[in-house]
Amino acid sequence: MGNKVWNDKKRFIWMLSILLLAAFIVTSGISYQVAHESLSEQIEDNTLPLTSDNIYSEIQQDLLRPIFISSLMAQDTFVRDWTINDEQDPEKLIRYLNEIQQKYNTVTSFFISESSRNYYHSSGVLKKIEDVSSEDAWYFRVRSLPKSEDYEINIDTDTADKNRTVIYVNYKVYDFEGNFIGVTGVGLAVESVKKMIELYQTRYNRKVYFSDRQGNITLRSKGFDGATTLQSTAGLEKLATRILTSPSASFSYRRDNRTIYLNSRLVEEFQWYLMVEQDEVLAEKKLLTTFWLNIGLSLVVTFGILLIANMTLGKYQRKLEMMASTDKLTGAANRQAFEEYFTPALSRSLVESTPMAVLIIDIDHFKQVNDKFGHNIGDLVIQSAANVLKSNLKEADLLCRWGGEEFLVLLPNMNISQAHELADRMRETVAARSIKVNGNDINITISSGVAEYRKTETPEELINRADIALYQAKEQGRNQVVLSY
Ligand code: GH3
Ligand code: MG
Ligand code: MG
Repeated sequence: MGNKVWNDKKRFIWMLSILLLAAFIVTSGISYQVAHESLSEQIEDNTLPLTSDNIYSEIQQDLLRPIFISSLMAQDTFVRDWTINDEQDPEKLIRYLNEIQQKYNTVTSFFISESSRNYYHSSGVLKKIEDVSSEDAWYFRVRSLPKSEDYEINIDTDTADKNRTVIYVNYKVYDFEGNFIGVTGVGLAVESVKKMIELYQTRYNRKVYFSDRQGNITLRSKGFDGATTLQSTAGLEKLATRILTSPSASFSYRRDNRTIYLNSRLVEEFQWYLMVEQDEVLAEKKLLTTFWLNIGLSLVVTFGILLIANMTLGKYQRKLEMMASTDKLTGAANRQAFEEYFTPALSRSLVESTPMAVLIIDIDHFKQVNDKFGHNIGDLVIQSAANVLKSNLKEADLLCRWGGEEFLVLLPNMNISQAHELADRMRETVAARSIKVNGNDINITISSGVAEYRKTETPEELINRADIALYQAKEQGRNQVVLSY
C-alpha cells in the first residue's frame, strides 16, 4: 500500500510541476509577445516617425540653404543682365561667384551660359560645356527639365577639383522674357553633409541615409554598412517598391536575424527619400531580461509550491498511514500494522543476535463486564486496559489490539524472563487498579501467555505458542502469566 501511495504522490508532483511550469512559460511567453508587439507598434507608429520629423526639419534648415542661395543667384538681375549683355567683362561675374562662395561658405559656385557654353567658376572660366562630353551631360539634363521644375540636386565630382565629390544645386536661369539663358548654383562638400548625417545619427541614435527615387543610396555616413541600392539591401528587396512609390512609409523588416524598424519619407526639395532606421536590440534586450526574470521567478514559485505540496501530501499521507495502521478505540496498532512491524523487527533480531519475545494478553471474563455494564462501557474498559498496558511499555515495544479484548505485545531485545517480568508487572497493575466508569468501580484481571522467538520457527509458530500459554493461564484460573518453553 505504501508503495502505491508513494507512486501516486510522485505522479501528482510531476503533473503539478509540468502544469505549473507550462502555465508560467505560456504566460511569460504571451506577455513577452504582447510587450514585443506594442514595442514594435510604438517604434513604428510613434518614435521613428517623430525622429524622422526632427531630422527632416533639421535637414530642411541645413540643406535648403544652398537651394535658397542658388535660387537667389538664378533670380539675380545682375547675373541675368550681364548674360543678356553678351557676357562682357567675365571678371565681374567671377567676382560675383567668388563673393557668393565666400559669403555663404560653399565649396563651389558656378554659372554656365547657354549662349557661350562657358563654365564660369569662382576661380575663373574653367572650360566650355560640350554636347558630346559625358561629364557635361548634367547640364543638358537640367536644361531639359520640365518648365515646372526649376532645379535639380546632383552628386558629382567637382569640376574644379576632380578628387572631390560635391552635392550640386543646379538652378535654371531665365531672362526677363522667360527664355532659358543658363544654369547657376552652388555646391556643398559631400563630406560635410556626411558629417551632418553622422551628427543626426548620434543625436538620435538612429541610422540615417538617403535614397533617390530610383532606390540608389545617395548619401550615407562613413560607417554605413548597407548595399548601394535599396533593391539590393538584404531584407528590403521586396519593400523597395513600396518605399519608392509612397511619400512616406513606416514598417519593420528582418536583417541578420534582427528586427529593423524603418521610416522613409520623400524630401520634396531634393526628390530624395530620407531613411531613418532603428535597431530593436536595445529595447528588446529589456524585454528579454524581463522575460527571463519572469521565468526565473516562475521556477522559484514552482519550486516553492512543489515543496509545500510535497510537505502537505507527506503529512496527509502519514496521517492516512497512521489511520490505516491504528486501532481507533485504543490507539494501539492494528493487526496489519503488527505484521508490517514484525518482519523488520524479526530480521533485526536475527542480524544482531538479540532476543525477541511476544505476549498475548486477554482480559478475564470480559463477557461479564459487557453483560453487566453494557457494550459501551465495555469499550471504555478495553480502552483503559490498553492505556495501562501502554504505560508499562518502552518506545521500541509494540502494543497491538489483536482481537476484541485481546492484545499482542512485541518485545524486541527481550528474553523470556524479562518478558515474564514485564507481563507480571502489567498483570499486577491491571489487577490493582479499579476502573471508574459512570460511577461504577470496575475491577478486571488479565491473563498472559509469553514466548521467546526461536531461530527456526515461523512467526505463526511463535504466536501460536504464546496463544497456547495464554490458554493454559486461563485453564489454571486466570490472572496469571504462563511461559512457553
Ligand atoms: P475469558 O476469561 O475466557 O477470556 O472470558 P471472556 O468472557 O473474556 O471470554 P472471551 O475472551 O472468549 O470473550 C470476549 C468477549 O468480549 C466476547 C465479546 O462479546 C466481547 N467483546 C469482544 N470485542 C469487544 C469490543 O470491542 N467491545 C466490547 N465491549 N466487547 C467486546
Ligand atoms: Mg477474555
Ligand atoms: Mg478473548
